[in-house]
Amino acid sequence: MTPEPVVAEAQTAARLSLADRARRAIEDEHLQTALAKVTAALGAEGTAARTDPDMVDRRRRGAAIRREVLADLDGWLDRLQTKLESRGITVHRAAGPEEARQIVLGIAREEGVRLAVKSKSMATEEIHLNAALEGEGIEVVETDLGEYIIQLAREMPSHIIAPAVHKTVPQVAALFSEAAGEALPNDRTALCAFARQRLRSKFLSAEMGITGVNFAAVDTGTIVLVTNEGNGRMCTSLPRVHVAVMPVEKVIPRFEDLGVLLPLLTRTATGQRLSTYVSMITGPRRPGEVDGPEKLHVLFLDHNRRSLLGTPYEEMLCCIRCGACLNVCPVYRRIGGHAYDAVYSGPMGAVLTPLLSGGTEGRDLPDASSLCGACSEVCPVGIPLADLLVRLRADLRDPGPAVPPAAPWPGHAPEAASAVGEAGDAPGHPGDTTPGSRAARRIGFGVWARVWASPTGYRLTAAAARRLGQLAPDALIRKAPLVSGWGQGRDIPLPAARSFRQRLASRKEEGW
Ligand code: SF4
Repeated sequence: MTPEPVVAEAQTAARLSLADRARRAIEDEHLQTALAKVTAALGAEGTAARTDPDMVDRRRRGAAIRREVLADLDGWLDRLQTKLESRGITVHRAAGPEEARQIVLGIAREEGVRLAVKSKSMATEEIHLNAALEGEGIEVVETDLGEYIIQLAREMPSHIIAPAVHKTVPQVAALFSEAAGEALPNDRTALCAFARQRLRSKFLSAEMGITGVNFAAVDTGTIVLVTNEGNGRMCTSLPRVHVAVMPVEKVIPRFEDLGVLLPLLTRTATGQRLSTYVSMITGPRRPGEVDGPEKLHVLFLDHNRRSLLGTPYEEMLCCIRCGACLNVCPVYRRIGGHAYDAVYSGPMGAVLTPLLSGGTEGRDLPDASSLCGACSEVCPVGIPLADLLVRLRADLRDPGPAVPPAAPWPGHAPEAASAVGEAGDAPGHPGDTTPGSRAARRIGFGVWARVWASPTGYRLTAAAARRLGQLAPDALIRKAPLVSGWGQGRDIPLPAARSFRQRLASRKEEGW
């Protein structure tokens, strides 16, 4: 499969500002139809999981397990490596995407791989593994249905658990018809049958299976994969080599922790009590076993994650990739994943993308939030996403080493990446289309911050706003500088005629 159109699409998107990408997404009727359906359904599941009394204790315990890992991440990784190696698994460590790609390419060359089948893995998207393998002449076939769809469309995933969420059934039928060389009906069952038939021969002839890792338990050395289609199991049991790419934070201390984390993940992601398949892998094929790979490699991927430890951004490493924050985010629900122009989208992507890249990518993404807090509320492991977004906005505008470089692993030079806040000019608000508007916004918010830092300044301006709200019609306020763009399509609530303090004082006078 040729990668050029993907690159061309990405370059086109990269030339557009976040505001332009968002506008383009909002004008796409197909996208709006698909997004509305899926995010409403998934968002309802995430919200139901949050309010379910059974989930309260599970959320608390899940959050505690994730933070226990982060308190000694390097120690847990060392212990996991020892355990995996004792089970005949080869462990590799990669400081960043380039080293990770070279490790997988090295394994593929050594094993003479011509065809690789892949289970859905955001970590491999993150390191752009497919393009690297295809550059070596290796055919790579995505086997998750959603990933297969977007591979045919030559696009990036637009959601971390539903990569083709932006596609409607007729669009999928058109893609599959082109691949089949004949017209296929707009029928889900027929389209799934086509994909199943196409992928089966690939599973049987691939030399390498590539997967991610959902969790890796230290005490038993178990790699855990969560899927709903069974393709993960085919990728890990049929090819003679299995490579699992594991972001470092996926380690968990104990096998029994899965009793908390697995239902937490599936319930919040899709509403399922448990996913259809949970694969637990404890090594390559042993003598007497009928399936499984002859060789199993696990690759620990850092990519700036360890540099977040001990910083306010450490919390982001608790993420279990459930996708719930995307589904409830009013921005994601309107613009979808591609407008973020990044592997990870939605609130978690808006935080993670600048952090993983050391501030060189996605510097405008923290602005893609209304800060309503729905993401923080729904997050099953208690990541304060809205707080992190606010902090990142400030850190990315004020150059400075917000995130220090991670200590390199022995024998691994860290890949070049500047600290957050040091990568060139701040991008400004997505609504800033000219240097003048950017400067005006900066000065305006700077003055506002100074005035509101003082109680007197706050009271005076609040009184002025109340007065203005009574005098000026709503339509006029919408045309005021700074809010004219923001006010399009939004309600701008007018200040109350009397302040809270004034109302409280009169209540007290009334003897209330
Ligand atoms: S940040 Fe929280 S809600 Fe969002 S994907 Fe990660 S775990 Fe799920």
